[in-house]
Amino acid sequence: MLNCKQFTDLASEHIDHEHTGWKRVEVRLHLIICRHCRRFNRHLDRSRQTGATIAQQVWRSDEGTSDLIFSRIIAAAKNKNDANP
Ligand SMILES: [Zn+2]
Repeated sequence: MLNCKQFTDLASEHIDHEHTGWKRVEVRLHLIICRHCRRFNRHLDRSRQTGATIAQQVWRSDEGTSDLIFSRIIAAAKNKNDANP
């Protein structure tokens, strides 16, 4: 049977569904009997989801920044071509 320290060491892998066989059973059994680790597991999962959401938003804003830079380069090139036909 896992203790809480052992569970917290395995929690991240558990969320990623990396455990199989007896390890998976041990982790699930600990979650059944320990409300503290259930809470920890829930908060860890939410933190990871929040981090993923923020990373996705940053990536999207970078994509918008890239589009803005690209459109400015095209506009500058067009202005240069219009000035020097
Ligand atoms: Zn525990």
